[in-house]
Formats: sequence, structure tokens, C-alpha cells
Amino acid sequence: MSTELPECARCHFSTQNRLCQKEDGKSPAYCPTQNYREAIGQALDELRNPDILEFAKQASIQEGEGYAHRELGYERVKPVKPRVLETIEFAHRMNYKRLGFVFCIGLTKEAEVVEKLLSAEEFEVVSALCKLGREPKETLGVRDDQKIRIGCFESMCNPIAQAFVMNSANTEFNIVMGLCVGHDSLFLKYSDAPCTVLAAKDRVLGHNPLAAIYTIDSYYRYLK
Ligand code: SF4
Repeated sequence: MSTELPECARCHFSTQNRLCQKEDGKSPAYCPTQNYREAIGQALDELRNPDILEFAKQASIQEGEGYAHRELGYERVKPVKPRVLETIEFAHRMNYKRLGFVFCIGLTKEAEVVEKLLSAEEFEVVSALCKLGREPKETLGVRDDQKIRIGCFESMCNPIAQAFVMNSANTEFNIVMGLCVGHDSLFLKYSDAPCTVLAAKDRVLGHNPLAAIYTIDSYYRYLK
């Protein structure tokens, strides 16, 4: 294995002419398609597990069916499904009956809507809010001046408890909505069921973190 770390994000070849897209494609020295054959082989070995294979296959079919007009050629395809619809369709494809739904207290209204959408699709929805357990932030060693409401009781976000509640309820697939950076990491680490992220929290940009990236040359140039 090469000692060069993969750097796909810096690959300077056009996407359709890269080695990862075609057999005689081009690749830079730091290319994982070229240098990480062993890891790629190990990944293929994982697909020998029929459950993993089925999950990966259905995800790939869902991806393809996210586009209309495929019969007209790649240049004419048109994306037609918002992520929430893709999430519902994928859960149906996998024949899941019981879904986990974990969300942030800051997205309580959105959670009501999403829960209704999922329930209307005949899923059994198990939901848990980030603050469940009412554990004080002091449990984490957080000082009073490090809280949002200084001088008041403040429940800590408890993503590990969210995961353990979902695990206890034997959810088959967990949908994550708006957990904070780091809290989401802990939920994903401790969840038994596979997870998908419906929305990534961005308090400033209406949960669309990429808005800062799209406007990096104008309003968000200070980030560069
Ligand atoms: S896998 Fe190789 S060719 Fe593909 S983007 Fe990464 S570095 Fe470029």
C-alpha cells in the first residue's frame, strides 16, 4: 500500500475522466483507486454478507431512481426527489417497519411534521429528543459560563442516551435530524441500527451548511 494519503478532494482531473470513473482514466499520485487496492478489496468482502449487500444494492437503486429522463442520456437527467422522500422510499425498499427518529430540541416543529409524514407511511416511529434524561450540563464538566443560559439549569444533549433508547426499542433504521456537531458523532457511534441524516444542523443558515460554501467568494469569504 502506498504511504501517500488519499486526497480525492484535491484531484485535478475532470470528474468523468478519472480512474475511479473509467478503466483507462487518469489519476494523481495520491489516488486511492490506485494505491488502496487492499482496502477496496476488503470493502468488497463486506458485501459477501447478504444483509449488507441488500442494503447497498437498495441504496444504489434508490440513487438511480432519484433521476427522471435517464433514457434520454446522462446530460438530460433530472433530479426529482427531495431527501425526505428518498428516505421514506429507501425505508420501504428495505421493508423496515420500525424507524428511529432522533432530533434536536431546536427542531421540535420540524420533528412534528416529519413524524407525521413517516407515520402516514405506516412506519412505527420511535422518536427521542436530544435533551432526554434531563441530565445537567455539569455532568459533562461544563462550567456555568459555558452554558447557553448562564446561571440556569440546562439539560445536556444526550446523544448516547438517544442511541441507547433506539437500541432498546430495536429500531431497524435511525433517522437523524439536526443534532449538533459532535452530538451527531456520538449518536452515530453508539447506534446499533444503520442511520441516515435527514438534516445537518446549521443554526445560522437554516440547516443548509453548504450555503456558506456556495457563497464562499462573497459573504463568507472570511472563512477562506
Ligand atoms: S479516486 Fe483517484 S481519480 Fe478518483 S477522485 Fe480520487 S484521486 Fe482522483
